[in-house]
Amino acid sequence: DFCNLIRSKTPLECWPESWFGINNVVRHSGPLTRYQYIPGLGIKNAQGLTREQIIQQVGDAGLRGLGGAGFPTAFKWHWCEQQPEPIKYIVCNADEGEPGTFKDRFYLTKQMDRVIEGMAIAARAVGARKGYIYLRGEYLYLYQAIQQELQHAKQIGILNDLFEIELHLGAGAYICGEESALIESLQGKRGIPTSKPPYPGEKGLFGKPTVVNNVETFASVTYIFQEGSSAFHSMGTEKSKGSRLHSVSGDCEQPGLYELPQGTPLSKLLSLCGAKATQCVQVGGPSGQLLFPDQFDTTLDFEGPGHGGAIMIFDTSRSVMSITQNFSNFFRHESCGFCTPCRAGTVALTHLLERYTKLPENRQQTSKDLLELTELMNKSSHCGLGKTAGQPVASMLRWANDHDR
Ligand code: NAD
Ligand code: SF4
Repeated sequence: DFCNLIRSKTPLECWPESWFGINNVVRHSGPLTRYQYIPGLGIKNAQGLTREQIIQQVGDAGLRGLGGAGFPTAFKWHWCEQQPEPIKYIVCNADEGEPGTFKDRFYLTKQMDRVIEGMAIAARAVGARKGYIYLRGEYLYLYQAIQQELQHAKQIGILNDLFEIELHLGAGAYICGEESALIESLQGKRGIPTSKPPYPGEKGLFGKPTVVNNVETFASVTYIFQEGSSAFHSMGTEKSKGSRLHSVSGDCEQPGLYELPQGTPLSKLLSLCGAKATQCVQVGGPSGQLLFPDQFDTTLDFEGPGHGGAIMIFDTSRSVMSITQNFSNFFRHESCGFCTPCRAGTVALTHLLERYTKLPENRQQTSKDLLELTELMNKSSHCGLGKTAGQPVASMLRWANDHDR
């Protein structure tokens, strides 16, 4: 009943703007959030091109996956296009669940038309006739508005008999943001990651070749086809092209969204958002890196330790230990339980961290145990969640070692 109630209302009726708070405020805009979008122009430009030329244009732009991993988008599309299977799918990963990440929510709320157009361009590039948007369960309040955007896209011809999109609501599991678990969930199964290869481009949804891209990636595709690949390619660094949104939260004067060219130093972002007495910054969410002041000159791009996307700022009033414990509890809660290194490892991590805090006299041994455990989890877990769950702990131990804590 609650779901039906929420679905029947517009986002602002059930969840007033003040609840979003900072989350939809673009503090620093850039070409992608600011350009004059002309609905349908991107797809019209793509219609004059062959499949190979469309993919080539994405490759020329240098677009890489903006969900976090930075895999070249053109490679994924090419791989899918090459498959002889006639039925193919496009999936938009809108299961934005990484703590501290709310950049996709901006597109889902304010610029959904561009995401839909980007999916339609991808469909044309690989020859898909059906697409799915997998919406994070907690974004239920956006369900109705996205349906309306899909209707509107049909009315203006971006969606038609040749390509349609279905909206699917997740059930609130973080692991379903992992693409193979997402595909399992879309098929009505429990969201457990499957082994890769085969990658979705070869064998994805319902066993068919599938392109899975993040919300922001599809929005960038529309920009590329309206403004040209060189416009995107001219921004960023040699290996990380374009500009992107960062969700900035925590101890700073102006939390919110910042669009910055790839390769912007973290220190510049900290100064833009008014961060003072910063003790550490978690970059890329809990599965990313916890960076300390001697690392603030790192650049936000795919090459360095800070991919960006989610920037959580902690000042000197915060306990590094508590931050680490909080992240470890998160992974323990969200582990899907399929494989032992992660199911048991995430529990053991939280226990060892407790021992680390409560028994300072045993710290040397506990620290050794923690490092061994994080390494074991990294080497033997089935998917990225278990592999990266120990990362914040390893960063904390390095910091503790350097500061003699
Ligand atoms: P990954 O590197 O395994 O894969 C990235 C993408 O590239 C996938 O689509 C995969 O299919 C494709 N790929 C990789 N190798 C390929 C190959 N040889 N051939 C064809 N395709 C290939 O990373 P992942 O596990 O999918 O994602 C991890 C990232 O997601 C992390 O950086 C993490 O920070 C991020 N993440 C983001 C969120 C969020 O809310 N946006 C949540 C959790 C994690
Ligand atoms: Fe599930 Fe964790 Fe294993 Fe991934 S690593 S399959 S989340 S138990």
